[in-house]
Formats: sequence, C-alpha cells, structure tokens
Amino acid sequence: MNLPGANRATEERNDWGISPSLLASLRPAGGGAVASGAILITGATESRRWRLAAHLIERLLCESESADPPCGSCWSCRQRQAGHAHPDLQAIGDEPEQIGIDEIRALEDTLALTAHRGGWKVGWIPRANRLTEGAANAFLKTLEEPPPHAFYLLEAARPRALKATLRSRCQRWTLHAPEMVSGFGPPESEAQVAEWADECERMFRGEMSPLSQVRERLPLTWADQARLWSQCLWTASRQHLGWPVALRLPQALERRLGALPVDSLELLYTRARETERMAQAGINQRLALEALVVGIAREVHRYASKSD
Ligand SMILES: [Zn+2]
Repeated sequence: MNLPGANRATEERNDWGISPSLLASLRPAGGGAVASGAILITGATESRRWRLAAHLIERLLCESESADPPCGSCWSCRQRQAGHAHPDLQAIGDEPEQIGIDEIRALEDTLALTAHRGGWKVGWIPRANRLTEGAANAFLKTLEEPPPHAFYLLEAARPRALKATLRSRCQRWTLHAPEMVSGFGPPESEAQVAEWADECERMFRGEMSPLSQVRERLPLTWADQARLWSQCLWTASRQHLGWPVALRLPQALERRLGALPVDSLELLYTRARETERMAQAGINQRLALEALVVGIAREVHRYASKSD
C-alpha cells in the first residue's frame, strides 16, 4: 500500500481545513449518513492530499461505534496503523504513467465483492489525472450505480484534467493550505513571510546557516522579523500547553518549534521580545536578530537530535 503516514493522519484529524461537519458525515458503514460513491480530493500538496486520504480510509474502515472514527483500537485500525494490507482496501499503484481500463476493471471487480469485515470496501485512486479516456468512461458507468458498500477515493493535483462528467459524479473535497501567521506586517509582505518560513525550515535542516537566514527582507523590517519569531514562539508555547491560539504557524515551524519543551520556548520568546524592542529602537538590529536566530536554531537542533 502506498499511502504515507497512516498514524500521523489520525493525529491531524482536525487539521485539514475541511469543515468538521463534512468530515463527520463520512462514517464507517452502518454509521449513518453517507451514501456509497466517490470523493475527489484536491487542493494543497500531494502529501497533504494523501494524508487526508489515509485518514478517510481509516474512518471508513474503522469497526468501532466511535463518534469520531478512526478509533485506533479496533482490528481494522490496528491493521492500518501497523502498515498491513486490509482486505477491504484496494489501491491503484502510484507508479504507472497511466491508469488503463484493465486496472479500473480489476479495481471495480474487487469492490463489487462483499466486504470481508462487513463494512465498506474502499478503492483508492491516487493521481487520478492518469485515467485514460477509456478508463474514465468505464469508471463513470460504475459511479452511476456503485455497489452499495463501495467507496472510491480519488486524488488529483489538476482536477480540471479529469473528465467533467467524472468530476461531477464525485463529491469534491478541497484542502486549503493552513493560514499563515498574520498581523505582524503589511499584507504585501505575505510572500516574504512564506519565503522566510521556507528558509527557516532549510536552516533547521542544516542546509542554511542562521547567519545567512538573517538578512534584509523588505518590506519585512528587522523589527518585523523579530516580531515574527516572537509570535511564532508565543504561539508554539501556548499550543504546547493546550491553549487555544488565534494564529496558525507555517507548518514547518509548527513542527520544529513544537518539539521544544515549553521552558525553552518561553525563554526564547523572552529573547525574541527583547530583540524586537532593540530593533524598534534601531539598536544593533542585525546583530540582535542573528543572536536570537542562532539561539533558536541551536535549541531546535538539540531537541531534534534527542528525539531521533
Ligand atoms: Zn477503529
């Protein structure tokens, strides 16, 4: 099975940018509202789409009565978490350049059989853009009258490359990228913030030194950059304590800073605030920011190596 991150998918169940009521409508067989059919997952990045697919598969196959599946403890959930094949899950490989009529027929034949575990049978079609014209037509016929226990999950980076009739037969679930931290600078700095966050991740991976990460990034002033750090550190420490937070951190920062203990986060936050004040006063702006970022990178490395 080529679905990444089955376990992580469970952790991120509320993190999709998908409305909770829509997610809740997708229940294990016998659990209610949803009818058989197909969902087309689009938007965001492939890894996020696949993680959502992994999560939906777990939801559909879960055998518990849990109000918020997957439960993580039934036979199906344990099977998935251990990375084992599931008899009611059939996938099309992600490697071949095209998905032909034979692959689609084989998938449909399997899904037409009764489910081994008595629930849904799930068909996973990654990169559905690869469907040939013939395969798409054959699949369309199936979707007009799918077997009552069959559920198809499709994923596509470019949904417009799919036949319009096929798209219209699928429920479309569009993932949204998490919102970035905002409120620290002018709206025209958004692109610079995204670039800043990417570079932070490269720095945390050791591909860039903290000293080269710290540079002029107009329209982000030195003080704006210091404020970005203090907001991120503050948000990460609140998240650590389980408090609600108003800002959504860039994903990479959330993960890296989330690995730090709350003491480190609070200490670094105090330093970041101090750096912000110095930058606003025009005192040693660059030097102060360099010292801060070197300190943050050191802490992140220290805890990354501990968790390895
Ligand atoms: Zn379960």
